[in-house]
Amino acid sequence: MASQTNTTHNESDGATTESIESESTLETARRQLYHAANHLDIDASVVKRLKHPKKVHEVTVPIKRDDGTVEVFTGYRAQHDSVRGPFKGGLRYHPDVTRDECVGLGMWMTWKCAVMDLPFGGAKGGIAVNPKELSPAEKERLTRRFAQELQDVIGPNQDIPAPDMGTDPETMAWLMDAYSMQKGETTPGVVTGKPPVVGGSKGREEAPGRSVAIITQLVCEYYNRQLEETTVAVQGYGSVGANAARLLDDWDMTVVAISDVNGAMYEPEGIDTASIPSHNEEPEAVTKYADTVISNDELLTLDVDVLIPAALGNVITKENAGSIVADFIIEGANGPTTSAADSILAQRDIAVIPDILANAGGVTVSYFEWLQDINRRSWSHERVNNELEAEMQAAWYAVQTEFENRDVIWRDAAYIVALSRIAEAHETRGLWP
Ligand code: NAD
Repeated sequence: MASQTNTTHNESDGATTESIESESTLETARRQLYHAANHLDIDASVVKRLKHPKKVHEVTVPIKRDDGTVEVFTGYRAQHDSVRGPFKGGLRYHPDVTRDECVGLGMWMTWKCAVMDLPFGGAKGGIAVNPKELSPAEKERLTRRFAQELQDVIGPNQDIPAPDMGTDPETMAWLMDAYSMQKGETTPGVVTGKPPVVGGSKGREEAPGRSVAIITQLVCEYYNRQLEETTVAVQGYGSVGANAARLLDDWDMTVVAISDVNGAMYEPEGIDTASIPSHNEEPEAVTKYADTVISNDELLTLDVDVLIPAALGNVITKENAGSIVADFIIEGANGPTTSAADSILAQRDIAVIPDILANAGGVTVSYFEWLQDINRRSWSHERVNNELEAEMQAAWYAVQTEFENRDVIWRDAAYIVALSRIAEAHETRGLWP
C-alpha cells in the first residue's frame, strides 16, 4: 500500500485502564482507529481524516402531540465516511442520543461495512426522545417530519438508514413513504429493514443472530471443536440472542443458559431453545419457563465453551473479565466488552470475536435488501441465507489471515482488515481538489 507519511498514531497513548473504562463511544471508536492504524503502513493524513465525520446534520423535529400541544425534539444524522459507497447505518430513538454518540457509532458502521467488504460507508443518526412516551400516531408524525428534515441528505445513493434502538420495520416503512411522497416516486432503496411487503428482505430480522451463529460455527471449526461437544451460554434472548441460540441448538451445540433482563435460565443438559419464547414472541419470559434461575452476572462466568453476550454494551468489564471461564466470546451485542476487559481476556488467552464481524449479518442482509430494491427484484429466503453464509465466510477468512499473519487478537485483525480497505480506497481516490 502506498504510504507518504508514516507515523505512529498514538493520540490515545497515556490512557489508563480507568480512563478507558469510562470513555465515550466516540473516544473508543477513535482509539480503535489509532490502534489499528499502528499495525498498518498507511498515510497519516488518511487517519487524520477518518478521525472526523464527513458531515453531521442536526435538525429540529417539531410534532403535534395527541393532546394538541407542540413538542420540539432534536435529531441527528452523522455521516462518517463514504469513500467505499453510500453512508449506511441505523436511526435510533432514545433519550440519550447525542451528536457525539452518533459520530462514534457512525465510525463503527464504517468499520463494520468495510470488514464485510460491502460497498457502503458508515453513518448513524437518531432523535433524542423516549419512544415509550410516544403514541404510535405521535411516533409516525415524528418519523415523517424527521424524513422531511433529512430528505436532502438521505437517498439510495447517498445515505441509507435502517432500524436501531427504538425504531423498527414500521418506522422504516413510514420513513420510506414520507421520502417517496417528497420525491414523487416510490423509493424503497432509501431505507433498509422495511417490512417485506414494501421492499424489505426476507431473512433480515434474523440476520444478526444468524451471523453470530455462523461465526460461532467457524470459530469451532478453526479451533477443532466438535459442535456436539460444545456448550454455549447466551445473554439476551431478543432478536440477536434467540436467533443465534436456536440456530446453534439446531446445529447440535448444547445451549445451557439463556437470559433476559429478569435473569437467566440454566439447564446443564441443554435447553430446548425453540420452546422458550424470544423477546419478540413474549417479552421478558425466559425465567418464567426456568427450573433453575441464575443471575445475568453468573451466566457470564459459567463454565461453558462459548459465551455470547447479546443484550447490552459494556457487560464484560475489568471487574468480571478475570472470572470468565469460556474459551470463546462471540460478541452479538454492540460493544459488550470494555477495552480494559479486552486486555485481561487477551492475557488469559480467551478469544473474543468482535461485534463488527460477528453481528454484521444485519447490515449484510440490509445490503441484499438495497440490491433487491434498486433492481426491483425479490430474493428467496434460501438465497438470502446462502449469500449471507458466503459473505460471512469470506469476511471470516480475511480476518483469519490477519490474525495468523500479524499475531494479533481477533478484534485487531478485524479492524486491520477494515481499515486497510478504507485507507486503500482513500489513497487511490486521493484528496480533491
Ligand atoms: P432485543 O430488544 O430484541 O432483545 C434484547 C434482549 O436483551 C431481551 O431479551 C432483553 O430482556 C435482554 N436484556 C435487556 N437488558 C438486559 C440486561 N440488563 N441483562 C440481560 N439481558 C438484558 O434486542 P436485539 O435487537 O436482540 O439487540 C441486542 C444487542 O444486539 C444490542 O446491543 C444491539 O445493538 C445489538 N445488535 C442488534 C442488531 C439487530 O438488528 N437487532 C444488529 C446488530 C447488533
